[in-house]
Amino acid sequence: MSLKAAIIPVTPLEQNCCLLWNDENMLGAVTDPGGDIEKIEDAISQMGVKLEKVLLTHGHLDHASAAGELAKKHGVQIEGPHRDDQFLIDDLPEQGAKYGMPSYDAFLPDRWLEDEDTVELAGLTLRVRHCPGHTPGHVVFIHEPSKLAIVGDVIFQGSIGRTDFPRGNHEQLISSIRERLFPLGGEIAFVPGHGPMSTFEFEKKSNPFCSDMAVGA
Ligand SMILES: [Zn+2]
Ligand SMILES: [Zn+2]
Repeated sequence: MSLKAAIIPVTPLEQNCCLLWNDENMLGAVTDPGGDIEKIEDAISQMGVKLEKVLLTHGHLDHASAAGELAKKHGVQIEGPHRDDQFLIDDLPEQGAKYGMPSYDAFLPDRWLEDEDTVELAGLTLRVRHCPGHTPGHVVFIHEPSKLAIVGDVIFQGSIGRTDFPRGNHEQLISSIRERLFPLGGEIAFVPGHGPMSTFEFEKKSNPFCSDMAVGA
């Protein structure tokens, strides 16, 4: 049994919304549906996946905006992020209007996640790590048997998340990456919130912000 992932870039920020599914039963979830709900719906029907959940890594506009509508349409629950991102989720309709994004319904997640929680998905178990720094309530989803992680805006290929937003914290972000993600194993491939995929090993060696060399480890 393995977890499959298809990336669906959404919003003008080209955010990597992801369709995750178990290829044995074709049940799955959408992570970070930040907008372009028609595009997400197209991918769901094209792949023939039955949606079980919507998962959120954090409360930023381009990651979370369409979560309420997508979940309602499919009659499923929203899990994540950590409750420390509630201030961002509460503010989504206002932020959307400010940035001229299409308006989506306000929502609250059905389940806030904590560090080391697990999320059941399509008969598989995802591990949750709370990785604050980019936002205080940012979480990462990992399926260890498939060596796959959905990391949102914590780490990118060759970069890390911005920390100049409200309640961002650079030191905290670096320690989230080095203490909570890298120990999961170098061979784990991750889908970041923006840009191409990478592995923890590659970033531990070469990332200019959080590699062993960058932090003098
Ligand atoms: Zn973000
Ligand atoms: Zn983002």
